Amino acid sequence: MSGVVAQIIDGKALAQAIRTELREQAAALQVKGVRPGLSVFLVGDDPASALYVRNKHKACESVGVFSEEQRLPATLSQDELINLVKAANANPKIHGILVQLPLPDHIDKRVILETIAAEKDVDGFHPYNMGGLLEGNPRVVACTPKGVVKMIESTGISIEGKRAVVVGRSQIVGKPAAMLLLERHATVTICHSRTQDLGSRCREADILIVAAGKARMIGADMVKPGAVVIDVGMNLVDKGFVGDVDFESVSEVAGWISPVPGGVGPMTIAMLLENTVEAAARAAK
Ligand code: NDP
Repeated sequence: MSGVVAQIIDGKALAQAIRTELREQAAALQVKGVRPGLSVFLVGDDPASALYVRNKHKACESVGVFSEEQRLPATLSQDELINLVKAANANPKIHGILVQLPLPDHIDKRVILETIAAEKDVDGFHPYNMGGLLEGNPRVVACTPKGVVKMIESTGISIEGKRAVVVGRSQIVGKPAAMLLLERHATVTICHSRTQDLGSRCREADILIVAAGKARMIGADMVKPGAVVIDVGMNLVDKGFVGDVDFESVSEVAGWISPVPGGVGPMTIAMLLENTVEAAARAAK
């Protein structure tokens, strides 16, 4: 690597600071008799999902959030899962509910996500919470885009009036990230697989968020000098995980860049904890 100019947005350190604050908030709630609680449903035995669930459980323990994991067989019926989610909705000890995706093919993800009580929907995927973003009235915000915005804000650069480009239009990252930036008065372009001349669109960006799931697809020639670049991508290659941004070359052009790993990933988990503690605080009122 030659002359690195970009400052690193250290998601790991930022997430650690947030966790420290959350530990204090969780302890304060416990004094009032409310221990924040998260219920995680894992259907089937996908090893990657099992690993994510384990990491979430450990993260909860580290800040004093109670977490219960319901490991369920891949043969579980949709109705059985609905009933279990409804039981968690009614359980006053549980403030957050998370159904680990993907679900087996015979279970309709939308039906399950809509069964979760909106105020316990700590993933922010329920249509009521997604709709809140569109209305400009965010309620529970999805963890990854929420973390992305905190990472941008951590640079001290104002979002208002900036040109923001989001590569990716998924329900869980691209669309909500774009809505959050719009809410903060950025001028937002959303790009996707049919976008023509992606390089030109990306070069317009003062703030570039990439969530496409394509290893190192964004090179230095696609980035405006001095831009804030947030790399959401997590792509498994021979040497481990890499992002959607070619870190080595882009860090010579960008003003700020988030690494993979150690960028958006830890922030996503921190936001799950934050959403759970916030849900418990609402329930305590
Ligand atoms: P999806 O596959 O749901 O969406 C990918 C989006 O990128 C789609 O909108 C797709 O366009 C677009 N896209 C794909 N290829 C291109 C291309 N060549 N040019 C422009 N746009 C393209 O992915 P997710 O949003 O779920 O995740 C994106 C990445 O972020 C993945 O690598 C995922 O692992 C990672 N991720 C990381 C998280 C973390 O905590 N670190 C959390 C969530 C995701 P179209 O709609 O036209 O198909």
